[in-house]
Amino acid sequence: MNKQYPTLTCHICGYDMHDRKEHDPCPECGTAFSTLPDAYASKFQCTYPNVLAVLGMLAMPFIAALSVMLFISPILFFIGNRSKFPGVRVPAWAARAIRLNQILIYAALAEFWVLMILHSVWPNLFNFW
Ligand SMILES: [Zn+2]
Repeated sequence: MNKQYPTLTCHICGYDMHDRKEHDPCPECGTAFSTLPDAYASKFQCTYPNVLAVLGMLAMPFIAALSVMLFISPILFFIGNRSKFPGVRVPAWAARAIRLNQILIYAALAEFWVLMILHSVWPNLFNFW
């Protein structure tokens, strides 16, 4: 959360709303103006868990322990986003990152079960060393 800078822009399109009142519609996109603080202060906070999730999915068939470590922060991000929303507003870029995070977590779960099934059918499939 960034308390130093008041949230005087539209959180969906970024339009300057400093001369508007709370709940006024944004002239650009029609979103009701919210003066609540943003849920995330920087795009990096939302981007790196998704980068780690992709790396974890790539590592999963080869180095399981590395994959587990890579998934720590994506899973914490996933859990944290379930209860963060009262009292904050979610910018459009954060909403996209949260949606992508959910897709990646469910895709990783699917990958995990596919690998478990493949491993039970062909136990040596991923024994490269
Ligand atoms: Zn807008």
